[in-house]
Amino acid sequence: MSERYDIAIVGSGPAGITAAINARIRNKKIIVFGYENLSNKLYLAPKIDNYVGFYGISGKELTKKFKEHLDEMNIDITYERVDNIYAMGDYYALMISDKTYEATSLILATGVQFGKPFKGESEFLGRGVGYCATCDAPLYKNKVVTIIGYNNESIEEANYVSELASKVYFIPMFKGEYDLNSNIEIINDKPVEIIGDSMVKKIILRNSELESDGVFILRDSISPDQLVPGLLVEDGHIKVNRDMETNLKGCYAAGDSTGKPYQYLKAMGEGQVAALNAVSYIDKKC
Ligand code: FAD
Repeated sequence: MSERYDIAIVGSGPAGITAAINARIRNKKIIVFGYENLSNKLYLAPKIDNYVGFYGISGKELTKKFKEHLDEMNIDITYERVDNIYAMGDYYALMISDKTYEATSLILATGVQFGKPFKGESEFLGRGVGYCATCDAPLYKNKVVTIIGYNNESIEEANYVSELASKVYFIPMFKGEYDLNSNIEIINDKPVEIIGDSMVKKIILRNSELESDGVFILRDSISPDQLVPGLLVEDGHIKVNRDMETNLKGCYAAGDSTGKPYQYLKAMGEGQVAALNAVSYIDKKC
């Protein structure tokens, strides 16, 4: 049986780390999922004028201070993207590639994803469209797969799929070095639409088309209702009350993911409220 955490926090931006700090102060057993930079939206901010006490600080400097704070409190970030979360009644099961983590309560601090889904993306979800290539790769043994990759992790996933699929196309949506296996074809074009009948058949790009049995769209974050089936979302944001409770028992949300204004201090305040309420939830269960 896997180890069960009191609180799993998904997202290492301002909301997630504030939740982590407050839960740790209250001696809860936590796990935080996120990225080495903590949050690109923080790391890349050129100059921040509304962070109290640090007028004009850069995102990089503030990230460094946040990391020092986490280190002082021995809070580690697990550098993994959570692919799916299932409410199991008494706990939540968090799926990451081939691993499962368990937690009694959950704080979603996944930020907000800009940009609309591709045409056909939602329609073909589960019918050839997926968000975790390493999880679903066995379904595409000897088939043609297209990967729309937004980050370095997508390169690892493409390499993994290329060992099973007959053909892999990689459409990079970011600039950088693509350390891909030699049998992967890079397509420098912009995806427009996914089409098919009962299953995906083709990806239409601005200047070309790709016949494909499957398409994996590997963004930094997944829309919250796809991440947690059954989660109530309104206008693209997780629906919460003033206690940062979602419609699912023991599941809280904080930060940009719950709505505007998209700002650091709002995200952090909500992270704290979510953590304190998750702590009360755990304490009542004991
Ligand atoms: P985020 O900071 O977006 O963090 C969410 C984290 O969760 C990300 O690292 C994401 O990759 C990770 N994540 C998502 N899904 C998963 C998953 N499934 N598994 C694991 N990890 C996951 N606000 C201000 O108040 N003042 C400013 O001056 C300011 N300047 C800005 C400048 C720029 C260029 C940008 C883009 C934003 C700026 N903002 C500013 C807004 C601010 O960055 C956001 O409001 C804030 O970062 C929101 O924090 P968050 O924790 O909710 O989400």
